[in-house]
Amino acid sequence: MGRLLKCICENCGYKETSIFLGPGKTPGGGNFFPACNFNNQKVVHLDISDVIVMDNSLRFYLDIGKIADFEQNGIVPYFTKHLFKKSPFYWRDKKICPKPTHLQARFNYCPKCKEYKLRFDVDGFFD
Ligand SMILES: [Zn+2]
Repeated sequence: MGRLLKCICENCGYKETSIFLGPGKTPGGGNFFPACNFNNQKVVHLDISDVIVMDNSLRFYLDIGKIADFEQNGIVPYFTKHLFKKSPFYWRDKKICPKPTHLQARFNYCPKCKEYKLRFDVDGFFD
């Protein structure tokens, strides 16, 4: 089961709902992660199953080449370093996902006002 996220910008008020995070129940149905679509300035979700390379059942890493392809297409997942900022209180900040698919709740890039004021919250689950 994947999680359903919503996001809101604490600066300009831009918000989006129904953003998928994680795999759904359907086999081969994808593994989703929030992303910034620079083509239309929106927060979307992206299927990152091709990017995740499993070493074994416990360890995985990300395919840098595939991430570069996303950058080229202008749809960039939020674990990419230039899409979030670490706050001075980073150690206290809520993380939604651990590394390497790092997703923090606050201080993410807002595609509308270009400030690092976008906040993600878990809003439910999807199958
Ligand atoms: Zn904003």
